[in-house]
Amino acid sequence: MNEKILEIENLTVSFSGFKAINNLNFSMDAGELRVVIGPNGAGKTTFMDVITGKTKPQEGNVRFKGRNILPYKEHEIACMGIGRKFQTPRVYLKLTPRENLELSCAAQKNVFAALFGKPSGSERRTVNGLLETIGLANKADIPAELLSHGEKQRLEIGMLVAQSPDLLLVDEPVAGLTDEETEAVGNLLLALAESHSIMVIEHDMEFVRQIARKVTVLHQGTVLCEGSMDEVQNDPRVIEVYLGSQDEADH
Ligand code: ADP
Ligand code: MG
Repeated sequence: MNEKILEIENLTVSFSGFKAINNLNFSMDAGELRVVIGPNGAGKTTFMDVITGKTKPQEGNVRFKGRNILPYKEHEIACMGIGRKFQTPRVYLKLTPRENLELSCAAQKNVFAALFGKPSGSERRTVNGLLETIGLANKADIPAELLSHGEKQRLEIGMLVAQSPDLLLVDEPVAGLTDEETEAVGNLLLALAESHSIMVIEHDMEFVRQIARKVTVLHQGTVLCEGSMDEVQNDPRVIEVYLGSQDEADH
């Protein structure tokens, strides 16, 4: 079954005449884990902004599960089942990981229950399962401010999953993490990919190698090439634009 979760046609986004996204075409199957890479300024974040409704394009079509989502506002698109994790963790630092997850689980159903209610039995089971999945069962009841950066990233990914989105968008989840933390986040995304459609934007090539199945390379707002990590890495155009610019970024 190759149902498309996301289909994007002829997408163009201009900022005062500059095309951050330029006639971009892209599609993703339901259940896929896709990594989107590209040099700084390639348009990766703008691409995610369009999918979540934060930025509206000048031209093109965006369909989520076959439905045109362009007319909808950001919060409406979130309700339709597109969840986004921003680059920096946004967890409640004074609350414990368990409490953060309980809020996310319940928020999906009823805001008042989330604020004032006690978690139901099934919610408690879900939260315990999520704590296991994100590897924080042993730190479930300490304030989140005591977690490492990598643990906070995993907690936030758990909070995203608690909202049961059909499509998870994850923007640079390993920026600033140690190698060990990076691997833990990679393993978490691989585990979640068993049962979710996930798009990851990433810069860290080691990490991309760890998780990537199909990779899309963006350059100047358009798709430069797509394929397996090996195919993409050996494509002369990618070597020129991506690795060239990484070199610049390093100096
Ligand atoms: P990436 O995430 O791949 O680094 P971005 O999507 O952030 O790239 O940006 C793509 C290009 O669009 C960059 O040249 C950036 O300067 C420009 N851009 C992004 N957002 C805006 C904006 N709100 N106004 C003007 N230019 C923007
Ligand atoms: Mg970006």
